[in-house]
Amino acid sequence: MIPPRFEYFAPSTLDEAVEILGRYGGEAKVLAGGQSLLPVMKLRLAEPKALVDINRIPDLAYIREDGGWLRIGATTRMNDVNDSNLAKRRYPILTDAASVIADPLVRNMGTVGGNISHGDPANDLPACMLALGAQFAVRGPKGTRTIPAASFYLDTFTTALEPDEILTEIQIPKPRTGQGNAYEKLEKRAGDFPIVGVAINLFESGRKIESAGIGLTAVGPTALHAKAAADSLVGQAPGDAAFRRAAELAMQIAQPVSDLRGPAEYKRAMIGVLAQRALRTASKRAGGGA
Ligand SMILES: Cc1cc2nc3c(=O)[nH]c(=O)nc-3n(C[C@H](O)[C@H](O)[C@H](O)COP(=O)(O)OP(=O)(O)OC[C@H]3O[C@@H](n4cnc5c(N)ncnc54)[C@H](O)[C@@H]3O)c2cc1C
Repeated sequence: MIPPRFEYFAPSTLDEAVEILGRYGGEAKVLAGGQSLLPVMKLRLAEPKALVDINRIPDLAYIREDGGWLRIGATTRMNDVNDSNLAKRRYPILTDAASVIADPLVRNMGTVGGNISHGDPANDLPACMLALGAQFAVRGPKGTRTIPAASFYLDTFTTALEPDEILTEIQIPKPRTGQGNAYEKLEKRAGDFPIVGVAINLFESGRKIESAGIGLTAVGPTALHAKAAADSLVGQAPGDAAFRRAAELAMQIAQPVSDLRGPAEYKRAMIGVLAQRALRTASKRAGGGA
């Protein structure tokens, strides 16, 4: 299948890229890895007049800790996250997720920024960003602004990004001692989009959970922030009773639909199973050993 005709731009600066996006007034799209955009163009679900390829803009691909944050440049490939020793050691949830996104071919091209910006509720990274309390640096005509992950996802394929804005950096708070996280994904076959997924981030101190974040994949119009479920853990001793209660609350906010990946009731039940599994792993990684 061949996509419709489009103008192609490969700017070498962010300012130039933003200017071109503005010139097309919502009729241009950022092209990153092309792993989601090109398929939807081939299916005629999107027909942008222009593509603004951001791959030639220098210094947009990196993973580093700096000033209280893990900073991931928007064009960092998902395979680079999967291979990152820093992620493996300090942000295992990212390795959990990146290792099960699609297949190595897609991960070699697909970017972290693209996975987050696409706004697909079945993408794996958005739920992780919600659980981790991440924020996104975004460049537009008026300069740079920062959007918390919790207010980024507005609806299916709709984010808080304006048409002339570019996500430049993903910022994740650096972990503290006693923090652990995990991502659990259920898929029909290896490399597939998730049936459901659950992302957990826990901070434990003195055998108590001090704070928690929970994100859900593929059970709503966007990735879901399971705030009540996460809040129910605060002040509790990490263990089966607290984890079961949080999993029940996560199941309550899930809005799964029946489709080729399974019936809604099955998906809701699996949210409960995966949430407890991910909570146990996150707690072990936090050092609590629950
Ligand atoms: C066979 C297959 C299987 C897949 N399986 C999975 C899976 O299991 N889990 C999963 O999470 N994903 C999966 N994906 C999707 C894949 O992860 C995509 O690569 C990713 O969702 C988009 O990243 P990209 O860099 O390719 O973005 P693109 O396709 O280039 O762009 C996607 C959208 O985001 C916008 N965009 C991209 N970067 C930016 C930016 N920096 N600023 C503003 N807007 C931007 C584009 O304009 C476009 O609207 C799969 C894809 C394929 C083809």
